[in-house]
Amino acid sequence: MTHDIHIIGGGLAGSEAAWQLAEAGFKVRLSEMRGTGEMTPAHHTDGLAELVCSNSFRSDDATSNAVGLLHAEMRALGSLILREGDIHRVPAGSALAVDRDGFSAGVTGALTAHPNITIVRERVDTLPDNGLAIIATGPLTAAPLAASIGAATGADALAFFDAIAPIVYFDSIDMETAWFQSRWNKGEGKDYINCALSKEEYLAFHTGLIEGEKTEFKEWERDTPYFEGCMPIEVMAERGFDTLRFGPMKPVGLDDPRTGRWPHAVVQLRQDNAQGTLWNIVGFQTKLKHADQVRLFRTIPGLEKAEFARLGGLHRNTFIRSPELLDPTLRLKSKPNIRFAGQITGCEGYIESAAIGLLAGRFAAAELRGETLAPPPVETAFGALLHHITGAAEAATYQPMNVNFGLFPPIEGRTKKADRKRMYTDRARAALAQWLAA
Ligand SMILES: Cc1cc2nc3c(=O)[nH]c(=O)nc-3n(C[C@H](O)[C@H](O)[C@H](O)COP(=O)(O)OP(=O)(O)OC[C@H]3O[C@@H](n4cnc5c(N)ncnc54)[C@H](O)[C@@H]3O)c2cc1C
Repeated sequence: MTHDIHIIGGGLAGSEAAWQLAEAGFKVRLSEMRGTGEMTPAHHTDGLAELVCSNSFRSDDATSNAVGLLHAEMRALGSLILREGDIHRVPAGSALAVDRDGFSAGVTGALTAHPNITIVRERVDTLPDNGLAIIATGPLTAAPLAASIGAATGADALAFFDAIAPIVYFDSIDMETAWFQSRWNKGEGKDYINCALSKEEYLAFHTGLIEGEKTEFKEWERDTPYFEGCMPIEVMAERGFDTLRFGPMKPVGLDDPRTGRWPHAVVQLRQDNAQGTLWNIVGFQTKLKHADQVRLFRTIPGLEKAEFARLGGLHRNTFIRSPELLDPTLRLKSKPNIRFAGQITGCEGYIESAAIGLLAGRFAAAELRGETLAPPPVETAFGALLHHITGAAEAATYQPMNVNFGLFPPIEGRTKKADRKRMYTDRARAALAQWLAA
């Protein structure tokens, strides 16, 4: 064998993992199928770390934004993606946006020039049986490898569609208007938060759904049938005025405490993380444009001031049910020679994918040295995201997730909301420094 580790996929995660391992002194074989005539439906070039859509890495504010904090943590750990992002930065206010071609060329150049990295243009069709490997083939993993992953993880453990419902921060819900109750008072009674709509409010909401601006399907998505279980709400709304009232907005078994009666319609939110800081709007997967989602969902009584940890969306997306399949260092429990990294683990976004690639690279490097690297503390952005992927998230309803403060352990005690983000980031910086020192 001419390499210490095989990385499959030269996107955001695979490129970062390769860099971390090579910098640690290990020989890397990096397989990328683009450049052989193969292409994913969203990529356009043969460049490594190609950005398939927006050119933004989102907020670069490390004091009050979770993704900005993740940028800072990645810089502290020598990230190639952040280094090239900083070099190829274009003006975008407090966001970090990049010249996409310059960025991709910078990453490709750095990896090509590294003496420990061999880039092989090839499509890999099966999971390696032996030798350390990192699978970083992303949301558009080529079909034969996806089938091989499906066989190794259990066919139903590999999701092919990303039907995302919006997620709301608990502390932005008006609990004077909304109330806790499970339908027919089943369960603990605190499993759902309910928001009641009158007939007029429901009709206005219905019209908003029909008239709202929708994201167009890409050519390759058009033939993708909806699963009935993940039908976008606007598609349901088009089927008739009352379709939603018999679907995700059904009011039966829910008593509005203000009237003691079932309302005309109800929007339900279900707890989305163990800390209870995030709540998803049940059945509200949607292709409405983000601005229209925010505007329309804030017309729901109780959600007037809702802050969203994630907005809804629907596109093809291959990801594994990581919380039950991966160990805390991203190894596949049933085949521990294999790690997963990037969006295929169920994180969402360029930066999150690269961050998980960075961690996979560092965990693998430690293993090659015969050491064990403790996962970063959950108080850090790295740790909060990793913990979500490898354990904290509910496996049965697992969906791709951006980094956000709802994934962090809550700040204890009474705090002013305005101070809280700063407290999260101060605490994270201290925790990262301790972890690095150890
Ligand atoms: C349509 C679309 C739009 C998106 N828009 C955004 C956005 O605007 N902002 C954002 O932050 N995130 C966006 N994302 C999410 C984005 O895909 C991820 O954030 C990021 O690119 C994932 O990084 P990754 O390294 O996991 O996968 P990728 O960057 O996709 O890299 C995976 C690599 O693996 C290669 N590959 C696949 N199968 C094989 C195989 N069998 N053998 C060898 N190589 C293989 C692919 O060619 C690719 O280069 C979007 C995703 C999609 C699908």
